[in-house]
Amino acid sequence: MGADCHSITPGNALDYVPALRENGMRSALYSPHELRVESKDAIPKLAAWLEEKHGVSFHWSTAVTGIDGERIETSRGMLNAGAVAVCPGDDFSTLYPGRIAPYGLKVCTLQMLRIAPAAPVHFGAAVMSDLSFGRYEGFADLPEGRALAARLDADSAEMRAAGIHVIAVQSSDGSLVVGDSHVYGNAPQPFAEERIDDLILKGFDEIFDMPGRRVTARWVGTYASASDRTVLVDRPADNIRLVMVTGGTGASTGFALGEEVISDIYA
Ligand SMILES: Cc1cc2nc3c(=O)[nH]c(=O)nc-3n(C[C@H](O)[C@H](O)[C@H](O)COP(=O)(O)OP(=O)(O)OC[C@H]3O[C@@H](n4cnc5c(N)ncnc54)[C@H](O)[C@@H]3O)c2cc1C
Repeated sequence: MGADCHSITPGNALDYVPALRENGMRSALYSPHELRVESKDAIPKLAAWLEEKHGVSFHWSTAVTGIDGERIETSRGMLNAGAVAVCPGDDFSTLYPGRIAPYGLKVCTLQMLRIAPAAPVHFGAAVMSDLSFGRYEGFADLPEGRALAARLDADSAEMRAAGIHVIAVQSSDGSLVVGDSHVYGNAPQPFAEERIDDLILKGFDEIFDMPGRRVTARWVGTYASASDRTVLVDRPADNIRLVMVTGGTGASTGFALGEEVISDIYA
């Protein structure tokens, strides 16, 4: 928790990411721990690795329609399993709707962009801004964070209302993945709002000096969200766990959570 993170000067921050605007930056917090993967590449590679090295069988394009003890009913027939981990993402109605309902989950819809800089830029680190400090509880719940949140509410009300914070990372082709917004509701919102993309880009241009940058992709994603927990682990039966990441961090925490859930089922 914060180990080896340290405050750096605006000049040091520019050494990592020369495209940052020095003007207006007071200092930055540097973390040496950040790693990122490109989900669309990493997920198929992980599946292939699990299949080849660990003999995992994947039943693609198959819906699970019911679970009864060790019997799993699917759209392609029955399966048997001694232990079952149900990870339905933001599908609250197919499996165990009665167990999910009391948690009062919402669907969080996010908008993100891919940006191509006009000239090559180098990102030696992922970049987040003060909007991120005002949003993530680890920072926002600190006394100083509360003061910052109040200031951001006053100065950037529209961005705060759309749950926007600026996070920019670089892909291996030099383009940037930039996000994101967070709007909570009862169903995924399929339509990306231009207004929200414009606000993300406004935040981006406030911290980066990248004339001529182009948006090359826009997308909408969703995840399950709870107001009182970041992870939900429910126990429909001794051999079954219902597991949902409800704080938007499943790509980071999924491995550790999986390890815990498996050892709990077999305990
Ligand atoms: C835009 C965006 C950015 C994100 N950025 C980050 C990030 O930077 N870092 C991070 O840690 N996390 C991030 N997340 C969150 C992360 O992606 C999720 O927490 C994670 O994907 C949850 O994994 P999961 O396997 O539980 O659910 P999902 O990824 O939602 O997968 C659930 C799968 O189960 C399938 N399914 C559901 N019901 C059934 C059924 N009955 N039968 C068969 N299949 C079923 C669904 O079709 C789906 O494929 C981001 C999410 C979004 C949308």
